[in-house]
Amino acid sequence: MTSDVLVSETFVSVQGEGKLTGTPSWFLRLSGCNLRCTWCDTPYASWDPEGEKRSVASLLDEAKSTGVRHAVVTGGEPMIFPQLPLICAGLRDIGIHVTIETAGTVFPGDWTDLACDLMSISPKLANSTPADDPRDPLRVWAERHERRRLDPDVLNRLIAGFPDRQLKFVVASPADLGEIEELLSRLSGLGPGDVMLMPEGVAVPEPASVRWVVQACLERGWRYCHRLHIELFGDTRGT
Ligand code: SF4
Repeated sequence: MTSDVLVSETFVSVQGEGKLTGTPSWFLRLSGCNLRCTWCDTPYASWDPEGEKRSVASLLDEAKSTGVRHAVVTGGEPMIFPQLPLICAGLRDIGIHVTIETAGTVFPGDWTDLACDLMSISPKLANSTPADDPRDPLRVWAERHERRRLDPDVLNRLIAGFPDRQLKFVVASPADLGEIEELLSRLSGLGPGDVMLMPEGVAVPEPASVRWVVQACLERGWRYCHRLHIELFGDTRGT
């Protein structure tokens, strides 16, 4: 295995989503994904993966030099990179808390000691499938994405393997709630506080348009997931 890995971007910002919202963090965006969400907000790491090859050692040196105590390894899909365990172990060795952001479709069986302090899982609902996406005229990715996007076995292994975890669902309409409930009925070990709903979109939503999301959280004990980085910086790279 080469230790070089395709990196889309690295930057320091505050975490914008989930339990650690507001936490100063070093972000490492690996470039490449096994899915193709139609609303993907990082197409440069999925639909059209770009970036530069970086050695694991250079990434760890950079993380250390920032002085921040948290790292977010994201993508793309970080779990498809064989170098991920090396990166995470290295970050932990230098005293950095590690969050992995994943869609939860891949978890190699021999990664049981993966050094991850917060497993941030974003299972993809039917609203993510690129049904009529001009980037996929032959519907190759539509079919592949639909087949891969949910794997309860992988999700259950991630939930069992990482006591600190969160499930963030991107929701577009109330019709998504039934799909979430059906999926949750097939998962074990989660409490309602592990489940988060995040309105789809790359702009700060109008309060009236997300009232149904708030109501769904109130009724079920789930959490509303804000996107702080969108509010602070807009839909821009490196934030
Ligand atoms: S899983 Fe994430 S990176 Fe991959 S296409 Fe979907 S939103 Fe984009």
